Amino acid sequence: MGVTRVATAALTTAVAGGLGLAACGALPQVTSAMPAVSHAAKSPAHAPAKQVRPRPETITYPAQGDARWRTAPAAGNTGGDKGTLLRYRVVVESDIKGLNVRGFADAVATTLNDPRGWTAGGTLRLRRVGPGDAYDFTIYLATPLTRDRLCESGLDSYTSCRNGDKVVLNVARWVKGVPDFGASLATYRQYMVNHEVGHRLGHGHELCGGRGDPAPVMQQQTLGLHGCTANPWPYLDGERYAGKPGAYDDKVPAADRGVS
Ligand SMILES: [Zn+2]
Repeated sequence: MGVTRVATAALTTAVAGGLGLAACGALPQVTSAMPAVSHAAKSPAHAPAKQVRPRPETITYPAQGDARWRTAPAAGNTGGDKGTLLRYRVVVESDIKGLNVRGFADAVATTLNDPRGWTAGGTLRLRRVGPGDAYDFTIYLATPLTRDRLCESGLDSYTSCRNGDKVVLNVARWVKGVPDFGASLATYRQYMVNHEVGHRLGHGHELCGGRGDPAPVMQQQTLGLHGCTANPWPYLDGERYAGKPGAYDDKVPAADRGVS
């Protein structure tokens, strides 16, 4: 109830690759020491082959970064195949360590280019541009207190936000997700990208339609699901999936203090 489905022509959007999230980290963890390599055999001229072990990405960040940014390169493909083109940059605050900027930007683009994403209506295309290119909006990955400086309102250092042409993703949520989300961190990341970009596209907050329903992407799923199930997508089964306008009076958890 309260959830409207607006029929939309099914769109066959070519999407490259998988979720692209593999390079984008996990919760901080300690990597165990490399095993010792025996030097006993052979002559010194034959150095033992290096044992390279893939290391999980460990993202660290202070509560307050200094608002210097690294800009991701342009993406090779554009989301959507017709409609208005919006160009965006992806920038990562320099004090966020252990995160591959391009890997992060590719995860963002993969989410935005998904056939369940905002371009599915056939009226919008989204293209990630690179340093020096003209752009319509910027997606920031920011430390919690830089997030507050960019957002200029709702200074909770916990949520993400959108302020004008600034789409501000809080690195604390990218790294930690939220409690009681009931879905993977990868799903939460897709949600935070689509929700905040949804604001830039003019969408306000929406309510859960009924117990057990997927939450509208514009529901504030960071703060509570209110009987709905986690859902990061604005289109489900090829149709726009939205709820009634509105917001809940949820309590915002404590400000994040960083990860070192
Ligand atoms: Zn919001």
